Amino acid sequence: MGNTIFKSFLPWSMAGEHVLICVAWPYANGPLHLGHVAGCYLPPDIQFRYERARGNRVLLVSGSDEHGTPITVSAEQQGITPQQIVDKFHAINSQALLDLGCMWEPNIDARGIDHGGALFNRTSDERHKEIVQDNFLSLMKAGLFEQKTMQQYYEIREDGGRFLPDRYVEGECPNCSEDGARGDQCDSCGATYEAHELEKPRSKMNPEAKIEIRDTEHLFYRLDRFQACLEEHAKARQGVWKANVKAMTKQWLEMGLRPRAITRDLEWGIKIPLEDSEWEGKCVYVWFEAVQGYLSCAKIWSERFGESADDWKKWWHISKDGTKPRHLYFLGKDNIPFHTVIWPSLIMGLNHANNGLGAADEITLPGPGDLHLEDNIPAMEYLMLAGGQFSKSRKHAVWLPSFLERFDGDTLRYYLGINMPENHDTDFNWPDFVAKINSELIGHYGNFVHRVITLAHRLEGVGNPLAQFDNPLLSEEWRSKVESLLLDVEESLNKHRYKEALRGVMSIAQFGNQLLQGSTPWKYLKPESHAQEGAAESLAALAFSWRISRLLAIATQPFIPFSAQRLWQSLGESQEISQVLWSDATDWDAEMNWTETKPVPLFKRLDLDEILEYENSLVEGQTEVKNDDPIHAVKGSKKKEVKKMSEAPEGTTYLDFNTFMEVELRVGTISAVDEHPNADKLYVVSIDDGSKEGRTVCAGLKEYYSAEQMTGKQVVFVANLQPRKLRGVMSEGMMLAADDGQGGVNLVSIDGSIANGSRVR
Ligand SMILES: [Zn+2]
Repeated sequence: MGNTIFKSFLPWSMAGEHVLICVAWPYANGPLHLGHVAGCYLPPDIQFRYERARGNRVLLVSGSDEHGTPITVSAEQQGITPQQIVDKFHAINSQALLDLGCMWEPNIDARGIDHGGALFNRTSDERHKEIVQDNFLSLMKAGLFEQKTMQQYYEIREDGGRFLPDRYVEGECPNCSEDGARGDQCDSCGATYEAHELEKPRSKMNPEAKIEIRDTEHLFYRLDRFQACLEEHAKARQGVWKANVKAMTKQWLEMGLRPRAITRDLEWGIKIPLEDSEWEGKCVYVWFEAVQGYLSCAKIWSERFGESADDWKKWWHISKDGTKPRHLYFLGKDNIPFHTVIWPSLIMGLNHANNGLGAADEITLPGPGDLHLEDNIPAMEYLMLAGGQFSKSRKHAVWLPSFLERFDGDTLRYYLGINMPENHDTDFNWPDFVAKINSELIGHYGNFVHRVITLAHRLEGVGNPLAQFDNPLLSEEWRSKVESLLLDVEESLNKHRYKEALRGVMSIAQFGNQLLQGSTPWKYLKPESHAQEGAAESLAALAFSWRISRLLAIATQPFIPFSAQRLWQSLGESQEISQVLWSDATDWDAEMNWTETKPVPLFKRLDLDEILEYENSLVEGQTEVKNDDPIHAVKGSKKKEVKKMSEAPEGTTYLDFNTFMEVELRVGTISAVDEHPNADKLYVVSIDDGSKEGRTVCAGLKEYYSAEQMTGKQVVFVANLQPRKLRGVMSEGMMLAADDGQGGVNLVSIDGSIANGSRVR
C-alpha cells in the first residue's frame, strides 16, 4: 500500500466520508453546448470519480429543469406542447452526458448502495412535484410566506383571456426606447423595470390582442428573514469560496434581501397545493422548485434504489453527534447567488419548519439533525467560442451531441480540463484544440505509454517479460519523484483546481518520457543484450516506466476515463478502472500483469484542415442545420464506428508527371543526430548524401525516434527543396516518413543497401 499517500488524505477527509455532489440543472429547451460542459458538467464528474477513487461514499444529483416560460414560449412558437420539448431535450442531454463519460449511470455505486450512486432526474417527475408541494406547505405553515397583490398584463380574449408572464409581453424599453423589450427587462440596454413602465406594451404571441394591467395575488418567500444567518454563513466561507463566489454573494447581501415571488400566472409548472380558487391558473415559480431538485433527487434516489427510503439522510443530515456530510455544488457564475443566498435560505427555512418553529421564532444556522448547507461552490467562469460567449438562445455554439459524434469524448474532456474557465473566461477554438490534443495529450502522454508497452512486447518471455527487470533498489529515487508529483495532483484536486491537477498528471508522463529517453532500453531488448553493461539499469527504467503507465491509468481516470480504461486493459489489468482505488497508483508491489494483445495507440491525431473544412461546410450548409435543431447530427444518437475525420478527402488533385519529376528524391545515410539548440521538438540530422560535405536536415521526429534509433538508417530525402532556416539552423531538404494519423510515424527506408546519393524515381 502507498502509505505515504494515504496519510496525505487525512487532513482533507477520511475515506468513507459522505459526499453530496450537486450539479446545476440544465434547462431542457435546447441541447448542451461546450460552454455548459466546461462550466457545469465536466468538473463535477472529475470530482465524483476522484472522490470515489479515494474510497468516499458519493451521491451525485442533478436533472433537467423543465418548467418556466422560455419552454412555453418555444412550444407556442413551434406549435407543439411544452412536454414534447422537454421530453426531447431531456433525452438528448442525458444521453450526451453519458456519451461524454459522465457517471450518471449506474444509479447504484458498483461497491453497493452504501457507497452512494447517481440520479439524473427531471423536474416534471411526479414525485419531485409532490416533494415541492409538501415543502411549500411546511414553509407556509412556518410563517415564511407573505401574500401581495401585483400588477400584471392581462390578454383579453373571447374565451376569457389570460395573464401574461413577462416573457409574453413586448414593447418599447422605458430606458433606451428599443422595440422588442420584454415585460421586465430590456435585452438591448440591460435595464430592468416594472411591467407598467413598458411603453406600447403588446402580447408577444398575439400582438393584435387588447391587453391591460390587472391585479393578481401572489405569494412571496421571506428572504429578508434570512439576511443575518446568510451573512454569518458567508463570513464562515471566506477562506473557502473562490473570488467570484465571494464577490457576487457580497453584492446580493449588501443590497439587502427582499421577499421574492414564488408563484406566477402560468399553467406550465407545479400546481400550487392550495384549494382556494384564486390560485387556479397559477403555478410555483420555477426558481423556487428547480433548486429543490438537489434535495428531491436524493430522496427519489433512495426511494427507488435504496435499501430504505431514508438512505438519502446520510448525505443530507447533520448527525446527532455533529458529523456533517460534505456538500459541493457545481455551476456557472451566472448561478452563484441562487446557491449562496436563495437555496441556503430555503434549506434553513425547511429546517425551521421541520423543527416545528413558526413566524415568531428566530431563524438559525443548521445544527445536529438539520439539513446541511454547502461546503463549497467551485463556480466556473465562462468558456467563450472564439471570443463570443456560448449561448443556447443566440445559436452561437458547438453542441455537445454533434461534437461527440465526431470526436473521442476524452479529447474534449482533456481540452476543457486543461483549458477550464476556473478563474477567468477561457476560449474554445479549433486550432488550439488540435494543437493541445496532438502535442500534449498524444505527444506527452499517449506516445509515452504506447512506447513503453510496445517495447515490452518486443522482449521475449512468458507473462510480463518486463517483470524480471523490476528493481526496487534502482527505482527508489524515481518512486519518490513520482509520488511527490502525484501528491501535487491530489492537493490541486482537493482545492478544485482541475486545470492544475491535469497539468500535474501530464508532468508525470513527461517525467516518464525523460526516464525512458535517458535510459535507452531499446538497445537491450534482445536476450543476448541483457548481460551487457548498463542493461540492468536501462531495463529497470523500462520496468518502472510500465509502473508509471499503470499509475497514469489510475490518475487519468477522473479526467479521461475512456482512454484510462483502454490503457488499463493494455497493461493486462482486468478490473474496471473506475473501481480502482487512487492509493493503488503508488502500490509499487502490485503485480505487473500482461496481455498478449498487441498494443494500439490510445488516441488518433487530429487534422486541423479536415476539421476546418467540415466546420466551413456546416456554415455554408446553414439552411439545413438552422432553425432550432442544431443537433442535426444526433439523430439515431449512436456513435458511428468510423469517425468522419479519418475519411479520405473527397476530391483528389492530380499532379502532372513533369511536375512530379521535378522533385529530386535521393538516398542518404543518417550519420549523426543532435538536439536542435532552439527548438524542443526538432533534431538536427546530418545525412551522408554521397557528397563530400554531406547535408543537414531539421526534422520533427523526436516524439517517434531516439537519436540512437535514427543513426545509421538509410533514408529517402527531398534533395532539391529550397534550403530554409528553422529556428536558426539551415535545413537542406526533408526526409520522407509515413504517418498513420494515429500517432505512428516511421521513416521511409531502402530495401537492402544502395550507394548514398542514388536517385529515387
Ligand atoms: Zn433598453
